[in-house]
Amino acid sequence: MPAELDPDLIGGWGRTALTAGYVRRGVRAEQVPEILSDSSLFPDRGVVARGLGRSYGDPAQNAGGLVLDMTALDKVISFDGQTGTVHTEAGVSLDTLARVLLPTGWFLPVTPGTRQVTVGGAIAADVHGKNHHRDGSFGRYVTRFGLATADGTVREVSPETEPALFWATTGGMGLTGVMLDATIRLIPVQTSSMLVDTVRAADLDQLLVALEQADHHRYSVAWLDCLARGRHMGRGVVTSGEHATHDQVPVAGPTSRSFAPRAFVGAPSWVPTGLLNRASIAAFNQAWYRKTPRSRNDELQGIGAFFHPLDGVRSWNRLYGPRGLLQYQCVVPDEGSLRAVLDRISTAQAPSFLTVLKRLGPGTPGPLSFPRPGWTLTLDFPVETPGLSGLLDGLDRIVAGSGGALYLAKDSRMAPDLLAATYPRLAEWSELRDRVDPHRRLRSDQSRRLSL
Ligand SMILES: Cc1cc2nc3c(=O)[nH]c(=O)nc-3n(C[C@H](O)[C@H](O)[C@H](O)COP(=O)(O)OP(=O)(O)OC[C@H]3O[C@@H](n4cnc5c(N)ncnc54)[C@H](O)[C@@H]3O)c2cc1C
Repeated sequence: MPAELDPDLIGGWGRTALTAGYVRRGVRAEQVPEILSDSSLFPDRGVVARGLGRSYGDPAQNAGGLVLDMTALDKVISFDGQTGTVHTEAGVSLDTLARVLLPTGWFLPVTPGTRQVTVGGAIAADVHGKNHHRDGSFGRYVTRFGLATADGTVREVSPETEPALFWATTGGMGLTGVMLDATIRLIPVQTSSMLVDTVRAADLDQLLVALEQADHHRYSVAWLDCLARGRHMGRGVVTSGEHATHDQVPVAGPTSRSFAPRAFVGAPSWVPTGLLNRASIAAFNQAWYRKTPRSRNDELQGIGAFFHPLDGVRSWNRLYGPRGLLQYQCVVPDEGSLRAVLDRISTAQAPSFLTVLKRLGPGTPGPLSFPRPGWTLTLDFPVETPGLSGLLDGLDRIVAGSGGALYLAKDSRMAPDLLAATYPRLAEWSELRDRVDPHRRLRSDQSRRLSL
């Protein structure tokens, strides 16, 4: 181990399985090839890149090995306002990009539920947003990236020049190399406001109809009360929206494109175990459902409120207490399997604080990319929920049996055989990985757990 580094306890956003790795901060692009090719550095444990640590499980940590904190690579290198493309270093956050780009009339083509994600992390997980049913995932808008590979070379990778490496890296959870910079196509917007429709649905049938009816909107998503039982199972709220145009906002002109959000409050640094439990989550769900009007159209909301409401509370993950939260995100291709999954959760009365349902459209060619046509359900469980492990094992069986999958960016507990069963192109990805990193220089706790 290099003398200048001490081990740090780090984990994912769920804070469930912290491990001690050697975190190298302030990394510069020109140092990365040398670090990767120097096999005397952490020969047994290898290296992994880390962005803003917003994946929930263990893909951005490396027990006993080197963790390259990429966030010092934070420069927006160039922006072309004619073509709507931006060239950035890989550690730039989507938050920074939104702040820089929105006033110029351009926006990110895909944004996950938080802006506190780096460009490298967004490509490595091939993230999706509320527009997946229409626009696909992040990788579709990446035209190229610079990738430092295990042999210490920096490759220029695009879907045209190196398609296999490009798509293995898009969704490849940092295991094919370390991205140093990337070029992304943007979408034009006239304002930084959204025009939002909201519909309350009393049960799952109504909710699915409402989501289908919202399909014509660029963005749509449903929040669900996962503790509702019997005929109320699946009740929730569907929100959908579009970017507002000049004539839809009170004040047109440059101010209508301003974007400078702040986190309103921070969660306390210590919260006791059990604050979020079945009773408190049931009360929250009830209140949320009841406060939503039956239907509301054309409400103006800021981009932050619409896409990233959780960014308004700093370190909200601490509300789950010292033991953390387990996020479970699956995709299933059909309504029957979705019902089966929800039915299990509702019957078990397992409390998920935030339960989100979305339709996904066709995926990218990435062999490890998660999105595929169907329904994706995201649940946040306090890790101490009684019986959680057995419940999730049961859900895994429904997901695998249906041809669905779990999302690697959220995963902290999957077993290798489930990965193989649900990612049918895993062998193709592994073959490419063997070629580009035959000695497994790039490793993470997740890659060891999943034998990736
Ligand atoms: C509140 C919240 C909401 C979210 N909502 C969504 C959502 O709606 N849709 C969605 O798809 N995801 C969502 N996510 C997950 C998040 O978008 C992904 O986990 C994303 O990868 C996190 O990016 P990061 O920069 O924090 O990367 P990290 O979590 O630090 O790392 C994630 C992976 O990226 C790799 N990586 C990071 N930088 C590089 C690099 N430069 N080169 C190579 N590999 C790299 C790491 O090795 C690791 O495997 C959400 C997360 C949170 C906390």
